[in-house]
Amino acid sequence: MIDLRSDTVTRPTSAMLAAMAAADTGDDVYGEDPTVNALEERVADLLGHQAGLFTVTGSLANVLGVGAWVRPGQELLCEARAHVARAELGAHAAVRGVTTRTWWDVRGRVDLEAIRWMMAPDAGPYLVSTAAITVENTHNFAGGTVQPWEDLQALRTAVDGTGIRLHMDGARIWNAQAATGVDVADYATFFDSVSVCLSKGLGAPVGSVLVGPADAIAEARVWRKRLGGGWRQAGVLAAAGLYALGHHVERLAEDHVNARTIADLIAAADASVVDPDAVETNIVLLDVGDRAERFVAEARAAGVLTGVVGPGVVRLITHLDVSAADARKAGEILATILHARPK
Ligand SMILES: *Cc1c(COP(=O)(O)O)cnc(C)c1O
Repeated sequence: MIDLRSDTVTRPTSAMLAAMAAADTGDDVYGEDPTVNALEERVADLLGHQAGLFTVTGSLANVLGVGAWVRPGQELLCEARAHVARAELGAHAAVRGVTTRTWWDVRGRVDLEAIRWMMAPDAGPYLVSTAAITVENTHNFAGGTVQPWEDLQALRTAVDGTGIRLHMDGARIWNAQAATGVDVADYATFFDSVSVCLSKGLGAPVGSVLVGPADAIAEARVWRKRLGGGWRQAGVLAAAGLYALGHHVERLAEDHVNARTIADLIAAADASVVDPDAVETNIVLLDVGDRAERFVAEARAAGVLTGVVGPGVVRLITHLDVSAADARKAGEILATILHARPK
């Protein structure tokens, strides 16, 4: 099976497992796990922020990051298909009392005009006050879109002096860096907090890191424990993250080439399904209309796992466990399925 459902499906490599087995550990609730501490410092450093907090998932990192800025009853603005709004099971509302309003952009990008219209930093006694804005980079459900650096700079300028905070969901921030050459720190500089995933393209089995100012991260550490996310000898997991940062960042560009290969092969069979130029990173969205469920079933029968992420939208994601040869084979299989079917 060639598994293109997500870049979370990767298995730790033997070298990564060796690094995990060799990890120096301690009790992280006491702050005594040297490998966790090293990972938190390393990621904070890479992103140019004061402090870091290792979390079990990206969802938890987002809940803690957004929760640092938005008080119960205040609102978070984000794009309509943002992971924080769509894929965290309502956690921001369920546990932190955050309300959400969304703008829509076909590519999932920052729409400064819409945000300017929506944001109400001090809405008084009648309307909900905006406390924070989240930007997803790259944008998952919009197809791995990279947020243009200039848009983020303009967003920072727009909120400066309003008290509104910016949180970046950087689950795939290293994919953005691989696609554009813009350093992750240059994206992170506009944000008050940033979450990153080690378990996506970087290939670690578990883990995310939230970075931000030291006081906000200290408060997030309290909330992590409150929500049951304190852990003890988590250094075995942090070691996988450190290994991934050392060995799996450079290779992300290969995933982007492979995604493009798949899109090219499919577009050659049916150009109405995908525009290869829209493939910026490791995610390919196919617009197959009412064929979606059937397409996914046929692909599975032919040895390729894919998933439906919206009405008529099938998502393919390349990753560490998909070789160039796998990508070519998957593209050919999917192209054949589309070619055989009536448009
Ligand atoms: C995967 C992902 C996350 C975190 O997901 P978890 O499964 O909670 O680790 C957050 N944001 C985006 C955009 C993602 O794709």
